[in-house]
Amino acid sequence: MELSHDYVEAKKGGVLESASRRVRMIFSVMASPNRIDILRILNSKGPLTYSELKALAGFKSKKESGKFAYHLRKLLRQSLVALNKAERRYTITNLGKLVLSLARQIEERSIIESGKMYVRTSNQTIEEFNSHKIIQSLVREANVPLELAQKITEEVENKIYKFQTAYLTAPLIREMVNSVLIEHGHEEYRHKLARIGMPVFDIAQMINSVDEVKNGIESVLAKTAQTVLSEYLVFNTLPKDIADSYLAGDIHISNPGTWGLIPDSIFISINELAEEGINLKGKFLNVSRIGSIKSVDDFCSCLALLNMLLSREASTEVFVDEIMPLIQRCGSDASLANKLAKALIIGSSAPSYAPTSPIMSLNVNLDGSEKKHVDAVLKGYETYVHATPIPRIGLVLTYSSGAVNDYADKISNIVRAGGAITLLGNPKQVRSSMGVSKSLGDGQSASTVMSLQSLAINLPRLAYESNKDETYFRARLALLIKPAVTALSMRKKTITDLTRKGLIPTLANSTQFMQRGSANIVVNLVGLHESVANILGYDDTNNCLDVVQKVIKTSVDVAMEKGKQTGDDVGIAMIVDDSAPRFAALDAEKYGKILLQTSNGAYSQGMVIPAADMIEIKKDSPIIKECNAMEKLLNGGLSVTLDVNNTMSDTDVKAAIESAADMLTFFRARMKVFVCGNCGQKSLEVIDKCGLCRSPHIMQRYA
Ligand SMILES: [Zn+2]
Repeated sequence: MELSHDYVEAKKGGVLESASRRVRMIFSVMASPNRIDILRILNSKGPLTYSELKALAGFKSKKESGKFAYHLRKLLRQSLVALNKAERRYTITNLGKLVLSLARQIEERSIIESGKMYVRTSNQTIEEFNSHKIIQSLVREANVPLELAQKITEEVENKIYKFQTAYLTAPLIREMVNSVLIEHGHEEYRHKLARIGMPVFDIAQMINSVDEVKNGIESVLAKTAQTVLSEYLVFNTLPKDIADSYLAGDIHISNPGTWGLIPDSIFISINELAEEGINLKGKFLNVSRIGSIKSVDDFCSCLALLNMLLSREASTEVFVDEIMPLIQRCGSDASLANKLAKALIIGSSAPSYAPTSPIMSLNVNLDGSEKKHVDAVLKGYETYVHATPIPRIGLVLTYSSGAVNDYADKISNIVRAGGAITLLGNPKQVRSSMGVSKSLGDGQSASTVMSLQSLAINLPRLAYESNKDETYFRARLALLIKPAVTALSMRKKTITDLTRKGLIPTLANSTQFMQRGSANIVVNLVGLHESVANILGYDDTNNCLDVVQKVIKTSVDVAMEKGKQTGDDVGIAMIVDDSAPRFAALDAEKYGKILLQTSNGAYSQGMVIPAADMIEIKKDSPIIKECNAMEKLLNGGLSVTLDVNNTMSDTDVKAAIESAADMLTFFRARMKVFVCGNCGQKSLEVIDKCGLCRSPHIMQRYA
């Protein structure tokens, strides 16, 4: 329908004219940079009081009060700013926001149209190229002397004008600055100015390789963060000698991305939380506190919540101590097993910042606990294991001699279902399911302890490079342990400091960690057997144990000595981490595969005993003697794995566990689980194709 002539004429005289008058008025408001500034401030910081706004807009002196009042009045009159009378605060209106965004668009467009150089910055803005900003970052970020900064900038500017790139971005300018710095031999400055990140191609590939993605989006984010933060660690924060040893493969660092942020293991007593809970003091926006624990329901929800919160604060393991005394206090509840299973399933989905989620271990003391309670915990755990492809929660059963036999049936059932059961035959000790000791000395440790253990030493390489000279081998080992302890000690200071600042809030607020907690440093020895065999020649098995003991003693002594200097508790351990395949691969590349004996592509970690052998073994057999001798010497902990074969019968597994519990102080009973990478179906038998969907993509894992 066409508008009648009269109608248009009539409107021209009235509404239309007043609308165009409004536009003119608004443009006149935009003419003042002061007023645009006020809008910008209210947009990002508002609502604000009169005096706050005045100060932020830079009208500081009394003389300028009138000027400020004048600008503000204009903005109010055009309804770009509104005053909330009750709160006496000013806010930007929707119209004001529109004007502001228009001003920004005009600014950007005019830069483009003018043919000037403009830069897309990493703050998602576009601004005119300004060489002064290059000088500024050279001086501020890398401490370049002003005169040199000016010279470098001039050269960069010439390049930029010469190339006339279509996409001039801040990262590109930085690349140019860095290349000019290198051309002039200023490597140190370039190092400080480096931008850490990932190539576009790698990011695209990571996002698209959905087949390898486990835990969905969480693993993509964790991987990205790890890449950036590991690079920052290796090139910017580690002492240079340690960084070089790491890159060369003399040592290994697990989870380098979280090295300077969170500890590897946390030991915490849930019984101590029972009274006061944990007050998170506003450090989490969605969880305010973990309440006190009075019933089995409280206990179960606390367990799930602890797992959720602490999984973010450790890279490898969260060890929860004293669950049995607490269950005892909570009184009998017939549905304990059921409720526990549910809590574990919920807790298992906890997020984490490490590429592999940390495991949670529940310490169950068999001595002094009522049998019905232990039975319920074991039953609840078994239900959880059946419901989970690869369990990330495990049980550490502590006992004095004999107590295991009452539960051997249930324990072997859990192990044969793919559960993670660890046995510790010394109730005075506390050991994580990886084997790490909570207390490095003989004395009592604090109730909450963090352990830093993610640095491992490549012994086979040291042995090979020592030309079968045992004394030289130990001397070189000592030379490697010292800087390792120094690096770990620096790491401990950094993390303690960050904990105080609130980066690790659950740990910091649990049982007043800052006052009563402590932190241990542990160095991990990898491939001890291969290295000793290399030094002695592969046939000489008689002197093996002698040399093994000598090597451990030297390591413990050197570490303790160095620890005295740095003021830390330092231990030596032989535990399982992710260093062994990397060491073996790097050494194979460097020296050829034949030079070092490796079994299944990785060096040995801790001790591994096939469960089938365990039934026959006697107490005086060489392997048991060796385990017990090493157990005494390794103050940081020894991991002994009882490797359960999938074809073993119920009775045999039970017999192996009883026999191991009788002869060893510490062991982890583990059976490989086969999980379909396509549909998630779990198999406890060896398979090469999924029984459900026939997919050949089968993952083999130990819990
Ligand atoms: Zn399948």
